Amino acid sequence: MAVTGSMNAKHARSPVIKIVAGENEIFSEEDPDAALNVFYVAKSLLIESSSYFAIVLDSTPERAVVFLPEHDYEVVENWLNLIFNGTLNIQEKLPLAFATIQKYFVFANLVGSEKLKNVITDSFQEHPIDWTLNSLRALQDDYSSLTTIFDIILEYHAWVIVTEGWAGFWGSPDGIVAWNKFICDQDNCSIVNQLLLKIDELNSGRLRKRLICPSDRKDCKWHEHLNDETKAKCPGRNGKPDAVKVVINGIEHWDINDSMLKTNGNAYNEINPA
Ligand SMILES: [Zn+2]
Repeated sequence: MAVTGSMNAKHARSPVIKIVAGENEIFSEEDPDAALNVFYVAKSLLIESSSYFAIVLDSTPERAVVFLPEHDYEVVENWLNLIFNGTLNIQEKLPLAFATIQKYFVFANLVGSEKLKNVITDSFQEHPIDWTLNSLRALQDDYSSLTTIFDIILEYHAWVIVTEGWAGFWGSPDGIVAWNKFICDQDNCSIVNQLLLKIDELNSGRLRKRLICPSDRKDCKWHEHLNDETKAKCPGRNGKPDAVKVVINGIEHWDINDSMLKTNGNAYNEINPA
C-alpha cells in the first residue's frame, strides 16, 4: 500500500465511492438534503489510505457503496480530513480523553489506518498533562487495549524518578502520602512492578543527562507501522524523520539515524558515546 499525504489530481480521475457510517442515513435540520454520515470519496485515495478499503474495493462486481460499522460519523469525518489534507482536527480539549483515544484506535484498526493511530498517539504524547499514577490505574482497569498510552505514561513517571530522584517524583509530603496509599492498594501491584522495571531499564548503563523525556521524543517509538517501508516514510513528530532530540550540555541535538535504537532494543541512545 502506497503512503500518500494528501489528495491530488490523480485521485480526481478515480471513481467515487459512497461511504455510509452506520446502517441508515442521518439528516440534520439545517441541511435536509445532505446526510451527515454519508461521504463520497475517490476510490484510489481510499485504497491508498486504508487496508480495509483496499480489500473491500477489490471485488467483482465493483462496489460503489460501502457501509461502515462505525456509527460515529465525526470519527469518519475527521479521518477523511486527515487523509485529505494531513490534519487531524478533533474538537476536544487536550490531552485527549482515554475514551476518545480508544474510539479512534478502534476505528483505525477497523479501516487499517496506521496514520490515524500514530497521529492520535503523537497528540497524546505531546501533552504530559494530568499523567498521574491514577491515570495508569484507569488504563489498567478500563482501557486495557491502550497499551501504548500506558507505556508512555509509565515511562514518563520512570523518567521523572531517574532524572529527579524519588524526592522530585513525590514533590511534597502530600506526594509521599499519595504514593504510600497507591502502593498499599493490592490492585496497583502490577503497575508498581512495571514502574520499577521501567526505572531499571532507563537506568541500565545510561547517563541521566542523555535520557529523553517521553513527551519530547520525535521518533517512532510508540508508532505502529505495517512495515519498514511505511516507517521509512513516516515524518515522525514535527516532520522530522525518525529524529530523536537529545540535550547534551544544554545543546539540543537531533539524531536522525535511529540505528542505535534498533541495536540496543530501547529508546535511550547515546550520541557520540565515549
Ligand atoms: Zn512513525
